[in-house]
Amino acid sequence: MTLEQHVDRIVGTLQGGAVGDALGVPYEYGTRRLDGEPAMLGGGLGGYAPGQWSDDTEMASVIAQVAATGVDLRSDEALDAIADGFIGWYRQGPADVGTQTASVLRGQEPGPGSADRLRLRALEVHRRTGRSGGNGSLMRTGPVALAHLGDPVAIVEAATAVSVLTHWDPEAGEACAIWCLAIDAAVLHGRLDVTSRMHHLRDDSARHWIPRLEEAARLDPAAYGSSNGWVVAALQGAWAAVARSSGPEDGLFAAVRGGGDTDTVAAIAGALLGAAHGGSSLRAEWRDRVHGWPGLDGHDLAGLAATIGRHATARAYDGDLPVLDRPRR
Ligand SMILES: [Mg+2]
Repeated sequence: MTLEQHVDRIVGTLQGGAVGDALGVPYEYGTRRLDGEPAMLGGGLGGYAPGQWSDDTEMASVIAQVAATGVDLRSDEALDAIADGFIGWYRQGPADVGTQTASVLRGQEPGPGSADRLRLRALEVHRRTGRSGGNGSLMRTGPVALAHLGDPVAIVEAATAVSVLTHWDPEAGEACAIWCLAIDAAVLHGRLDVTSRMHHLRDDSARHWIPRLEEAARLDPAAYGSSNGWVVAALQGAWAAVARSSGPEDGLFAAVRGGGDTDTVAAIAGALLGAAHGGSSLRAEWRDRVHGWPGLDGHDLAGLAATIGRHATARAYDGDLPVLDRPRR
């Protein structure tokens, strides 16, 4: 692997997620009939502009911006900054936001201790509703993997800590950890594999997940179309799309064609597909077209991803920041 390929895969993680999101937006929960090839037509539940990404990439951008400062995402400082970012985003009135995420963020104030307050609120929501395993933390988890590339222990801890800010259900955190481990393997080795690194998970949760993912690898994403608002089915749907794909387009289209929460499943699938195949494998017109809150576009995501990757590499070598090329536009 060349340095250029390495950076391309890091960039592909954020761009792939954004491209999947914008491709899935028009068809979210059947808001538009899908005839032929999915396209960035806008619309969806948030009435988005063509090429505009939705809440999935908006929330991922919050995490990416914090990660780009080089902070360890497991630290109180980082988690408060992410919590503040989520709260600030919600207070600006996003066009679409998941029910569970809204229940946690509603009425919250930013400031010191905000991560603690969100976690407590997430627990209250879990206790009140009896369920908090929506797909809303998995959809935004890509940048977490980049922040801790090559360090599976840190990846599991950070993915879990960022997930639980809004999603108390342990399965949401486990799903984020599994997907981030897969992104890590894809960036470092170009490998599409979700199961072989599950020994890094806490407890023996891999026992539940391995059969779910083996099942998904045999099925079409549409098998999860009616249930993919649930984090487990969203992960299965995304893996169903990725596992049998011949390339990033094939995988993204399969994720959208699976139906249900199309933008979220395609955003999840897109992060892993982009990590494995690189940002340069995505159509240039898509990379040029994606944009959204907080005033970023696909090229800005490339810059953010490269910065996060540079910090992660520096941390892995425990020394000065090595110079990595900024990806070409
Ligand atoms: Mg969305």
